[in-house]
Amino acid sequence: MTYIVGLTGGIGSGKSTVADFFAELGVEVVDADIIARQVVAPGEPALAAIAARFGPEIIAADGNLDRRELRRRVFANPAEKDWLDALLHPLIRERMISACAAARSPYCLLVVPLLVENKLTGLCRRVLVVDVSPEQQLARTTRRDKADEAQIRAIMAAQASREQRLAAADDVIDNKDPDLGRVKAEVARLHRQYLSLAREA
Ligand code: ATP
Repeated sequence: MTYIVGLTGGIGSGKSTVADFFAELGVEVVDADIIARQVVAPGEPALAAIAARFGPEIIAADGNLDRRELRRRVFANPAEKDWLDALLHPLIRERMISACAAARSPYCLLVVPLLVENKLTGLCRRVLVVDVSPEQQLARTTRRDKADEAQIRAIMAAQASREQRLAAADDVIDNKDPDLGRVKAEVARLHRQYLSLAREA
């Protein structure tokens, strides 16, 4: 059984930044966002199920799911959102598990933005949270995505609170400092710890 370290954090907290540092150390990274796109790729049964429910216009001319339109539809209708979650969540969960099982590094890093919200901490032997203040999340995300503040605030409001996330954490990386050297050193320290935990397990 692969030793799984779950990595999570709110929008714009620095998950990708931290995951890249682990990857540089040779750790295999499984990204829930990538898997969530793979399960609805052209040819996947889930895409056909979505088209059957929402109509063929939910598939764009290039054969890919029109994610923006789907988001719009489920946003307006909680029952449709529940239907979609019931379809996709088990598929995403199974693929995350098999991707982690296929990892060849001594442990694998499973990056899941909604790890706490979707109650996926049980998949992980260890939970690592990237922590920054809500103000920093907002500032960094608006800068990166050139998105407006209200939109980012709405996403933040729908996610777990900083406190809820920290309550689920075994380890925390504080990413407030613009100097990433400290974050990198902290990743190296955690890496040694995870290697020894994985060896003992
Ligand atoms: P999302 O949840 O939106 O996928 P994320 O948690 O993966 O985001 P990143 O993309 O790693 O977050 O970081 C968000 C933005 O903040 C990026 O533009 C990144 O370059 C920047 N950033 C990350 N860490 C720091 C830091 N310590 N100081 C300044 N900027 C940072």
